Amino acid sequence: MRSAREPTYLKLALCGAGTREIECLSSYVNRLSALHGATRYQLTSHLSMWWAKNGREAQPLPRQCIESRLNGYSIDTEILVTALEYATGISDIRASTLLALVDVCAKNGSGSTRRPRAWCPRCYQEDRAAGRPLYDRLLWRLQAYERCSIHKIKLMTCCPFCGAAQSDARLDLELDRCRRCRLSLSHEGKYWHFTDNPDPGETDLESIVDYVAKNPGVRFERSAPWHFLDALDPSFKRSDLIHFAGDVFHIREKQVRPQLNSLLWMANYFDIPLLGILLDPEEASRQMAIGFKGKKERRVPKRRRAFSQERVDAYELALKKAIKKGPPYPPIRHLALQSDMSVYARPRQVQPLIFELAQLTRSYIQAKRAQKERRIDRLFKKHIASASDETKKQIVQRLACELKAPVHLVRERVKAFEKKEIEKLRLKAQPD
Ligand SMILES: [Zn+2]
Ligand SMILES: [Zn+2]
Repeated sequence: MRSAREPTYLKLALCGAGTREIECLSSYVNRLSALHGATRYQLTSHLSMWWAKNGREAQPLPRQCIESRLNGYSIDTEILVTALEYATGISDIRASTLLALVDVCAKNGSGSTRRPRAWCPRCYQEDRAAGRPLYDRLLWRLQAYERCSIHKIKLMTCCPFCGAAQSDARLDLELDRCRRCRLSLSHEGKYWHFTDNPDPGETDLESIVDYVAKNPGVRFERSAPWHFLDALDPSFKRSDLIHFAGDVFHIREKQVRPQLNSLLWMANYFDIPLLGILLDPEEASRQMAIGFKGKKERRVPKRRRAFSQERVDAYELALKKAIKKGPPYPPIRHLALQSDMSVYARPRQVQPLIFELAQLTRSYIQAKRAQKERRIDRLFKKHIASASDETKKQIVQRLACELKAPVHLVRERVKAFEKKEIEKLRLKAQPD
């Protein structure tokens, strides 16, 4: 599949390559765009054309690259990573994602990456002090990773000053600046929460990311968790396991792929490193025979959902406000991002409101356009009456300026007007 062409993009290396501090793909794409003096959209569009030409038999690149989706293991991530590796000549870019888990974990990617950014303020400060480029670590983008274990600080997920969630990084702002108020996201003081207690899953995620960073291209086997469970001592009661670690232990006709979070809870419950289970499940289950005390922390079910309901409520409120306020309507995408929702999310609770706002926006835009067209027609008629010696191009430009209307719209109206006049003349010239 490799084309004869040489890599055409600047050869930008991943930050923290080969270590557990490895950069996440979204952060890499942002830095690569900045290096080429382009926006993320411009870079991916260009890459998309380049890929269509150079990546024979290849699937087309995704048009929209939403940050949080990039760092996981979706099909979009796979294609983008492959294209980037060809285009830059850097061969380990896939280590900046969770692609190693694509065969093991839930297809929809839930329970793996988090949507808004999270960061360790001290890491940013150290990057700055050392003169390194600021970058987001892959670990920070994982849902179950909630603390920087180097500095023992809880990761921050919103601006300490205005409380805004930092969804996508902005290319015109440094990573440690808030995208809303532009103040520092690494501001020291009362906003830092130190904790000595690691979250369950922290060490597991670190060792998996570290292993993948050292072995880019590795793919864990789909059947590994099932081999582990099959080889388990039958003395474990499945009802206890379900009680503690959730969906992994349900017996189903077909093996479902568990969420990454469920696997972490399973490993935590048995006190066996998840990396061990993924690499050598039989050996891991043999270790279980040595001794086991079921005194683990119980999984808190549906914790994420409680947050998610809050966000849906906020989204609903924002939509209602926008509808009540009347035109001009804000883009629905902005309302979703403000409420910390994905731009693709369509929860049932807000579906009718989204539909209503879209309808209102559409009719508002149509009414505005019609109004503009009428004004253009009026002015053009007046201009014809005054009979100046401007060229048609000059007239179009002047009218567009006067009316603050797009040039293409004025040109369209002028053409339509002329066509109508010619038609009139033709009808007049025709003998009865
Ligand atoms: Zn840190
Ligand atoms: Zn802020």
